[in-house]
Amino acid sequence: MIPVLENRWLLNDTVLKYYGLRKKPYTFKNTIKISVSTSNIIKSFDGIKDMSEYRTNYQIKKLIRDKIIIDIHSKKSVPETIDSAVFCTNCCSNDYIIPGLELNNEGLCPVCANMSSLKKLKDVLPVVNTISHNDASVFDVALFYTGGKDSTFLLYYLTQVLRLKVLALTWHTPFMSSNSITSMKNAQRIFTNTNFISKKLTSDDQKAIYKKSYELMKNTCICPFAAYPLFIDDLRNFNVKYLVLGNEPAQPINLLFNRLSPKILYNPIFQTIYRTLYNIIRIFRGKKKLIKGQIEMLLLLETLAFGKPDYIKTNTIRNPLIRNIHESLKQAEIFMGKFQQTVKQSSIDGNIPALIHIDFNEILPDGYVWKDIKTLLKEKAGWNDSSKENISLHTSCQIEKCKEFSQYQSFKDMNSDIIPFSALELSIAVNLGSLTREDAIREIKFNSGFSDTAPAETEIMKNAFM
Ligand SMILES: [Zn+2]
Ligand SMILES: [Zn+2]
Repeated sequence: MIPVLENRWLLNDTVLKYYGLRKKPYTFKNTIKISVSTSNIIKSFDGIKDMSEYRTNYQIKKLIRDKIIIDIHSKKSVPETIDSAVFCTNCCSNDYIIPGLELNNEGLCPVCANMSSLKKLKDVLPVVNTISHNDASVFDVALFYTGGKDSTFLLYYLTQVLRLKVLALTWHTPFMSSNSITSMKNAQRIFTNTNFISKKLTSDDQKAIYKKSYELMKNTCICPFAAYPLFIDDLRNFNVKYLVLGNEPAQPINLLFNRLSPKILYNPIFQTIYRTLYNIIRIFRGKKKLIKGQIEMLLLLETLAFGKPDYIKTNTIRNPLIRNIHESLKQAEIFMGKFQQTVKQSSIDGNIPALIHIDFNEILPDGYVWKDIKTLLKEKAGWNDSSKENISLHTSCQIEKCKEFSQYQSFKDMNSDIIPFSALELSIAVNLGSLTREDAIREIKFNSGFSDTAPAETEIMKNAFM
């Protein structure tokens, strides 16, 4: 045996890290700590000498047993095209869009194999499916509205089904598709009881923010994060009680597989303990108690404004994405300075909406089936579908493919350990019954950024900051 590290394992000092999605029970364990001597042995592997010529130890033997050190001739590779990819038998996952994807003996990917235990998980955010009408305030609830499928459905649900007084907040980006703009115009005409506010960044701020974002992430889609600094004053002035996120149900589970939020955060008991402790610290510091959702809102606002939340050590959170967004927003100095002031003030006076989540799969008897949702929205909200066929994920942002492309390329090159979001979200969406496996595969093949050639929309993206 000529020993080498299996494909997608990278040695960094004394940590072995896997860039991929491992089989159960190792799905959430992608790093292995090793000793200095083990690390030195691995570093000395030259791909020529036989194992018998190297020193060995207990850890090396275990790594061989676990097939992390393997014979050079059996080393796996990443397929060059989607057509030579190996697919999960149940969903659209494959080892082209997720290099390093491991399938189990039944041919199931880790998403499908873990799904039964994850379906019950809700969200890191409090899930509130019915919001009561509040006579005392101008608005019952606010949402970030983009004209895409998900936010249009949320708007419809809040105004037409729950009959609430809604404040719809739109961050107008240069990347909004013409369909979403038309959809928004139609919705404004139809939902007469809703207030719509639309805002833009100044062109200098926008350029500076996008330039940094491109530098850090090779893409400029930071939807919806600039909406927080843009609208925080409105939310405070109107004393809005709830800011609702109507995520695609697949999104919270994506964060779990990407280890961006640990499983314990989804545990209701842990959440209660955490909130209690958080409020104890606040009271200790002479501040008002915050309710469920307000804590989460404040943590997010502080991370966007300062790079990390107050009271929490940086090394306990792992969210390179939000940190990159903070770095990007920081480029607009005056804009950010004002935002930081407001966030500090919000922490003192506690006047912030609770960030809550509505679970689309819970409020709909047949679940959040994309095809049916689109039909409903066309009929009830004047929603305009994308001109291209099959676009199902993220229907409002023109540069979504660029985000996919950049996430895919840096994961494939092992520069980043973030698994492309839409690769996971599509697989989860298939598992939740939002679309069929075939539709998802078609979407990946014909309408995605999973490719080695940059998408045509790259020009639009670059024009926004050049
Ligand atoms: Zn699968
Ligand atoms: Zn975007």
